[in-house]
Amino acid sequence: MSHGDRMKQGQFTNPETPGYVGFANLPNQVHRKSVKKGFEFTLMVVGESGLGKSTLINSLFLTDLYPERIIPGAAGRTPAQAGTGPQAVTFVMLLSSRHSRSFCCQTEKIERTVQIEASTVEIEERGVKLRLTVVDTPGYGDAINSQDCFSTIISYIDDQFERYLHDESGLNRRHIVDNRVHCCFYFISPLGHGLKPLDVQFMKAIHNKVNVVPVIAKADTLTLRERERLKRRILDEIDEHGIKIYHLPDAESDEDEDFKEQTRILKASIPFAVVGSNQQIEAKGKKVRGRLYPWGVVEVENPEHNDFLKLRTMLITHMQDLQEVTQDLHYENFRSDRLKRSGRKGPEPEEMDKDMILQEKEAELRRMQEMIAKMQAQMQKQGDGDDV
Ligand code: GDP
Repeated sequence: MSHGDRMKQGQFTNPETPGYVGFANLPNQVHRKSVKKGFEFTLMVVGESGLGKSTLINSLFLTDLYPERIIPGAAGRTPAQAGTGPQAVTFVMLLSSRHSRSFCCQTEKIERTVQIEASTVEIEERGVKLRLTVVDTPGYGDAINSQDCFSTIISYIDDQFERYLHDESGLNRRHIVDNRVHCCFYFISPLGHGLKPLDVQFMKAIHNKVNVVPVIAKADTLTLRERERLKRRILDEIDEHGIKIYHLPDAESDEDEDFKEQTRILKASIPFAVVGSNQQIEAKGKKVRGRLYPWGVVEVENPEHNDFLKLRTMLITHMQDLQEVTQDLHYENFRSDRLKRSGRKGPEPEEMDKDMILQEKEAELRRMQEMIAKMQAQMQKQGDGDDV
């Protein structure tokens, strides 16, 4: 086996620690302060219904994000709650001691024309906390009018920006919960000959708001040659229609060779052709997550069978970059548009910082002056008493 082949195989597998996602390495990407606080990341999955979005998400984080839920009955809700408003469903997931990872999960269902479901899992791996929110957007193929569905998803992304903008200008800015959507996996059907008009329309509608990562669903339904042909076709169409997808940054020149090679392979794999499964199957004496066919097993976590591990590696190793692009590009776009629309030029974040510090200092000064005035009044009173 050549060095290149070994790299290709070894890079995306972790034989010593099966069932280990790898976000414990996140501290290498960011400052220690964030490690203490934990990481916040929101991933959205979009695409036609039935393409395997929920299955993939469960496979991705080695957890069932959608176990049986306790849904409060209508009797338990007030008449106002029983309407079409948001329902909050909370459940706790089983602790998985095998991987010494812990989960705590909460789901918020927002019922509109289509349902948007945000599930938050708190995963702890080797002492590193990740607060992961997955936003599942049941397929637009379901909606009679796909425009309604689009606008619901777009509003969801905008609402999170709006909330962040509001919190950022508030007093409690140091403790903002970041629910902005940092990445969107866009699922493309393996059955078409490329992008459908709706795919083009939808990706263009969100590409300035979120990092879009195109994913070919159910890759096990394609031969290797069909897969490559479809990938090329999709990339050509993305280019032709001017769709902006998330671009993995090039590895820095001082990075080690393995990381550079990994980045090169990841870049070459876009759009990632993935397979998902919720089933454990016996293959070559091992239990693996896979799909059983009469002719054999398609293993989810086998890089020779599909790009699942590459997709997960991309997400984990680029979490911080995805957050930064969200902050510096998508959120800034939203913020400047929003301020333009409201007809005023808002202060820059640093200016906001300075203003806030100045205000806090002024308030402190006022308090001190009041205290001194009170003390002087008291001393005056005491002096008057002594004179008598
Ligand atoms: P969603 O509507 O996009 O969330 O799709 P689901 O995750 O509910 O999956 C729909 C169906 O597709 C289920 O029967 C899954 O078992 C199946 N499925 C999911 N992933 C794959 C895959 O990678 N390959 C194949 N062949 N079927 C899949």
